[in-house]
Amino acid sequence: MSRDADFLRELHQRYASLREGRPAEYIPELAKANPDAFAIAVARADGHVECAGDADVTFTLQSISKPFVYGLALERLGREAVRRKVGVEPTGEAFNSIVELEDDVHLPYNPMINSGAIAITGLLHGADPEGAAGQMRDMFAAYLARPIQADGAVVASELATGHRNRAIAHLLRHFNVIGDDIEAVLQLYSRQCSVTLTTRELALMAATLANGGRHPVTGLQAVPQRYVPDILTLMFTCGMYDSAGEWAYSVGLPGKSGVSGGLIAVVPGRMGLAVFSPPLDRWGHSARGVRVMRDLSVAWGLGLFGNSGQPG
Ligand code: GLN
Repeated sequence: MSRDADFLRELHQRYASLREGRPAEYIPELAKANPDAFAIAVARADGHVECAGDADVTFTLQSISKPFVYGLALERLGREAVRRKVGVEPTGEAFNSIVELEDDVHLPYNPMINSGAIAITGLLHGADPEGAAGQMRDMFAAYLARPIQADGAVVASELATGHRNRAIAHLLRHFNVIGDDIEAVLQLYSRQCSVTLTTRELALMAATLANGGRHPVTGLQAVPQRYVPDILTLMFTCGMYDSAGEWAYSVGLPGKSGVSGGLIAVVPGRMGLAVFSPPLDRWGHSARGVRVMRDLSVAWGLGLFGNSGQPG
């Protein structure tokens, strides 16, 4: 076993006993997650993957779908059309915040929070109501190097209880960000959040972004290279919501979390990192995941500007 794999195993051991946080409960189906499930994976830009823990256990993407669907919208609609409806500013608010929509411009601040992501999905749906689901399916299939599946129970659970996202979608309709087909947009959004995958595959998705949008194993271009900077910039500034500053300071990489416990970080040109562990911190990020990313970044010197936030 390589030194890198040994280090991943050591990190896994270091945090397996951490008892912080609980799995997301506001989507009842996610509350059933095993709090002890825990995996770490690192995929190099040449396709080499190292893992520790339950790296072949599947879970749903949740908000980690947001940067990838943002890339699809840029590809389909172009930067100008997307920027007319969704900004590029961090919010300092939680992922499901509604307050920004009451600001003077009445547009979502960025595509990494629910309001912005529902708007992005609404743009794709509005541009091609019949084709949007298939475009998403093909896009995720290119990142996963296989046909995709959505977890129907998670979709149903979110749609039955997702009053807050429904409220966001109605506000987006009120401010003319999306069209009338609100339920169809919410369904499509829940489906993108419920795509299932393993930690190993998640690391390869992150490595695809590290590799200029080209999947390291299949060589397939999952997103045009010219949009990768947009995705990574938004992940860096907004991917971790109201702890984006703390994340940038302590990890120093573009990142994105999901409420099922997945977390990715991208080291441009070099590798994708992924962790899965369902108990969440107060921002809705995997509690073990954030610690593992920080330790990996420091140990391997991965921070984009060097590693800040260290003792001394
Ligand atoms: N599907 C979830 C929601 O919209 C995704 C949120 C997340 O992962 N932060 O609430």
